[in-house]
Amino acid sequence: MTFSNHFNQLNVDDLSMKLYASTSADVERALQQPSGNLTSLMALLSPAAEPYLEQMAQSAAQITRQRFGANLGLYLPLYLSNLCANECDYCGFSMSNKIKRKILNDEEILAEVDIIKSRGFDSILLVSGEHETKVGVEYFSHVLPLIKQHFSYVAMEVQPLKTIEYQRLVTLGLDAVMVYQETYRSHTYAKHHTRGNKQDFIHRLDTPDRVAQAGVDKIGLGVLLGLDDWRLDALLMGYHLDYLERQYWRTRYSISLPRLRPCTGGIEPKVLLTDKGLVQMICAFRLFNQQLDISLSTRETPELRDNLLALGVTQLSAGSSTQPGGYQQPDSQLDQFDISDERPVAEVIAAMKNHGFNPVFKDWENGWR
Ligand code: SF4
Repeated sequence: MTFSNHFNQLNVDDLSMKLYASTSADVERALQQPSGNLTSLMALLSPAAEPYLEQMAQSAAQITRQRFGANLGLYLPLYLSNLCANECDYCGFSMSNKIKRKILNDEEILAEVDIIKSRGFDSILLVSGEHETKVGVEYFSHVLPLIKQHFSYVAMEVQPLKTIEYQRLVTLGLDAVMVYQETYRSHTYAKHHTRGNKQDFIHRLDTPDRVAQAGVDKIGLGVLLGLDDWRLDALLMGYHLDYLERQYWRTRYSISLPRLRPCTGGIEPKVLLTDKGLVQMICAFRLFNQQLDISLSTRETPELRDNLLALGVTQLSAGSSTQPGGYQQPDSQLDQFDISDERPVAEVIAAMKNHGFNPVFKDWENGWR
């Protein structure tokens, strides 16, 4: 049994109809019992919940403060490579894009690591395009021990791997895997993923099962907001999260809520998610799941990021580069997408402190396992 078996039994059109038919009474009931309840999550994501946004925000802020205190985890992405054997029409790394391609070697990785460490970071997210042959498990197995020496927590956002490959990487220091479904609507998924292994919707859908079975500490889910109806995609991600938590209760979970950003050859969002909609999503997920990590990247503007801190976000990146080698030698031709919050780390930290938050660079130690 994997999530795809479960997913195939869901009537997605029926869920969509119920989502849009939610009433004020459904939202009021959901606010009474939001935790772990998918019917409540549906009501809280619906248009009927919009007039209750202030109430949702206050509850979400209170729950987040109770569970996480004033702490906000900081991490930085390290782009290992921008080679990719897939065609995703929203991404600057798509194989047909005529950009410079690069795979970092040991020396270049260590140069990036030096800069990231000098900024105080102790949690890192390793990112690469999806290129099985040139940037596959052999490359990851080589670079992981090199990087792990310098960081307490190492996450990866790369192509889906086999269970046995994840197991191998766990022994080399892998702590977390981010694997975003992009959209849970299979027809939309097919439209945006037109070449390469990523076309396999079901294989991607079952990747978190394989990650959990390999004993990885944390799994990150996400949808690319703008590809399809964000309310429905968010609800289906809630179903995915609910399934995983029941099936693999030892694993920790996080979600990311990236909005479509401009990039080389990129597309416009089909469905615009407003700032208000993003707030509703964050609050709905915090009310649904009190221990969930919610991650916010530099895709969002400084003003919005600062205002979202209190509502449920628990992790954020700051001073990010989205290109291989970008901390040492910035080159915009290598970017995956444009970022909106370009503030240096010190400025983000000052803003966090001004809002009463405590920036945490390290909240994890292997000895606690
Ligand atoms: S989204 Fe990922 S798989 Fe798709 S082109 Fe970009 S890097 Fe490659």
